[in-house]
Amino acid sequence: MRFGWKILGKWIVTAAWPYINSVLHLGTILHLLGADMMTRFLRLLGEDVVSVSGSDEHGTPIEVEARRKNIDPRKLTDEAHAYVTEILRRWGIELDNYSRTESPVHKKFVKEFMLGLEEKGYIFTQKMVLPYCERDKIFLPDRFIEGKCPRCGYPNARGDQCDSCGALLDPLDLISPRCAICGSKPVLRETTHWFFDLRALEDKVRRWLENHGELWDNVKNYSLRWIKEGLKPRSITRDNAWGIEAPFKGAEGKTIYVWFEALLGYLSASKEVLERSGRSFEEFWYDENTKTIYFIGKDNIPFHAVILPAMLMASDERYRLPSIISATEYLLYEGEKFSKSRRIGLWADEALYIINDPDYWRFALARIRPEERDTNFSWREFVKIVNSELNDDIGNYINRVLTFIEKHFDSTIPKPRELDNTDQEFIDRVWLHYSEYIDSMLKTKIKHASEQILEIARAGNQYLNKRAPWDEVRIDRERAGTTMYIAANTVALLALTLYPLTPNAARRIWRMLGYEEPLERSRYPSQKSFIIPPGRKIGKVEPLFKKLPQDFIERIEKIIAEAREKAQKERPEYLRF
Ligand SMILES: [Zn+2]
Ligand SMILES: [Zn+2]
Repeated sequence: MRFGWKILGKWIVTAAWPYINSVLHLGTILHLLGADMMTRFLRLLGEDVVSVSGSDEHGTPIEVEARRKNIDPRKLTDEAHAYVTEILRRWGIELDNYSRTESPVHKKFVKEFMLGLEEKGYIFTQKMVLPYCERDKIFLPDRFIEGKCPRCGYPNARGDQCDSCGALLDPLDLISPRCAICGSKPVLRETTHWFFDLRALEDKVRRWLENHGELWDNVKNYSLRWIKEGLKPRSITRDNAWGIEAPFKGAEGKTIYVWFEALLGYLSASKEVLERSGRSFEEFWYDENTKTIYFIGKDNIPFHAVILPAMLMASDERYRLPSIISATEYLLYEGEKFSKSRRIGLWADEALYIINDPDYWRFALARIRPEERDTNFSWREFVKIVNSELNDDIGNYINRVLTFIEKHFDSTIPKPRELDNTDQEFIDRVWLHYSEYIDSMLKTKIKHASEQILEIARAGNQYLNKRAPWDEVRIDRERAGTTMYIAANTVALLALTLYPLTPNAARRIWRMLGYEEPLERSRYPSQKSFIIPPGRKIGKVEPLFKKLPQDFIERIEKIIAEAREKAQKERPEYLRF
């Protein structure tokens, strides 16, 4: 018996903070979706969850854009943050706190955290020469310098990271560097920066990684390989105006490097929301039984599996280190990398102009979530998922069961009598998939979990075909009642398992089953048991999903163009492209 999991305690569920210079596309909304699905799942398990993410607002791209427009960068990010928050709402992404790095709580937290690291001896200063653009009159950190990657030779690596091989870089590592704004060759200038002594934590982080039992293989292997090359101290200040002021003595005019402060957003955003609801931050972050989950893309592995744990270890031994880093591989769009400049891909606001109900997108993205390898979004696959999986397998099964009860049992859940082998086999099969669903979700393997939901629905359709209640009802009404009682219970199980993925549809199923209590107040059964009591009146039965029309694929270019135009009009100017 694999059942009877115990309450595990507290959970901190997070998604990587999207940089607020663009709208999320299908590949980047995956992380926020993952965190939302996980939060919903854990709540139905009865766990104590706080879920956070937020807009990453600082950093050079926004500063330069504001400079070019001669406006306050905050004006750009206010508009962009409001828009992205609204898009997340429309997608049904309801984290407890979608904060921002301009939040006063975050800024205060970051400054105190940094001073704490300095006090503990993990911060030192160093004079350095850095690339400087004489034409633009700025230092060229991070994304403001480009060149050839010293590791893989990719010609457009940025100063902080190579998009091709994922290597974290220093601007001076680049071969044939150029200013990313004007393309000119930078000169070198002297400046002082504050460094985080990552080297001093190398052994500790390595041991933590090696002994970690829950990290996905891709995360563990990548990080250990990365550490093998040796951890170098990393500069945590920048000569930028837009950001959180570096709190160190003598660092006036400098700001904290956006990457380091954004990582602390997981802590500050949970502090913000926990304290708002009268709970303490320490109660979650210091509790040995708290699990922390990070939904990120594979390009963010070093920051979450090496740098963040190192920062937490250096700051306070009591902090919970990452439990699960759910680092997905890349999602491609029709076989190509998403690209804003080449307009390859589909953006989160556009998607809802194509199909207004986020459940279709949420389900499709769960089905193709790149958990093991890079996966591909294609319109052909999307149609297949919506039409044959969501509509035929799941929607039709639920509809068959409920309309039969409506028609033959006066909309009342019938009373079962003794179960025979066919019933028992079906129940066992459903329970096996349900159990697999729970296990997969606990590991954040959402794609695998979605397969179990489909298996439950498919088993249900086969059970109905085998039992043929339409014949049973004429010969032995009680027998048909038993069949429909069992079937109705799997419908309830489908509502519960679908809820993290397709919350709107799950709530509709719940209402059709006649529940007055909201679905959110129910719990996943932990023992093999029936959920619905016989005798309950079910609600009005309506089709759950709609199929995409046959000519959808033929017309897709036109459909995308129209959606794109509508989204474009709605976006703040800064986010149009
Ligand atoms: Zn590279
Ligand atoms: Zn320049």
